Amino acid sequence: MSEDATGFPEPSTEPLVVLQDVNKHFGDLHVLQDINLTVHRGEVVVVIGPSGSGKSTLCRTINRLETYESGSITIGGETLPEEGKALAKLRADVGMVFQSFNLFAHKTILENVTLGPTKVRGTNKADAKKRAMELLDRVGVAHQAAKYPAQLSGGQQQRVAIARSLAMEPTVMLFDEPTSALDPEMINEVLDVMVQLAQSGMTMIVVTHEMGFARKAADRVVFMADGAILEQNTPEEFFTNPQTDRAKDFLGKIL
Ligand code: ADP
Ligand code: MG
Repeated sequence: MSEDATGFPEPSTEPLVVLQDVNKHFGDLHVLQDINLTVHRGEVVVVIGPSGSGKSTLCRTINRLETYESGSITIGGETLPEEGKALAKLRADVGMVFQSFNLFAHKTILENVTLGPTKVRGTNKADAKKRAMELLDRVGVAHQAAKYPAQLSGGQQQRVAIARSLAMEPTVMLFDEPTSALDPEMINEVLDVMVQLAQSGMTMIVVTHEMGFARKAADRVVFMADGAILEQNTPEEFFTNPQTDRAKDFLGKIL
């Protein structure tokens, strides 16, 4: 993989996640409106936009936690399965990290990370444990492996949640405001792990208002408002030269 001047690998030109004319309603609310989005293998796409614009719904739809009414979504060229084993595999291939860490409270940190690979992937316990310890080390919490989630800080728990997703060897990682429930002093330790992940070449779709992360790690910023994608551009262009009034207004409020 080639690297650009900043040390981040250049994304490939291979489309990995492709949404075409995706539409979804919640009752009368047209929450996703003709969404067209292509994320290439190795690309880091940051999705930003006002609260209620459909960012979480977009992530949940890509992961099939929500259905959609028209259009198509493919991952690695395959249409999203509706149910059954194929859907379980899709969920394993598409890692998702939420605002709330959702760790299993009655399992240790290590068990939280080994559970998916042993149950869903059929990995043997020794291999799953070895891999889990490597991942916990990578996110800086290996020394906490025997503890329970409640014994860890929010930032540590979110890093475990990232390790747990990575243990499934996903082809793409979705992050939905992964730092917005954290105390300010813990935000950077989670963002640092995400930056490292971006540098390792992981394909990532990240909903966040952390502009520092977007500037550092994003190949592209996608701006959503009222269920539609209004702009897509490099972070430099988007932040310095937003094209729509909605984006200018939004940036004026958060920058
Ligand atoms: P964002 O993540 O950008 O804040 P969401 O995707 O969470 O936006 O929500 C988009 C809109 O859809 C909001 O108006 C929200 O109230 C609505 N919405 C989200 N989930 C549901 C649901 N399960 N049922 C009905 N409306 C929903
Ligand atoms: Mg949201």
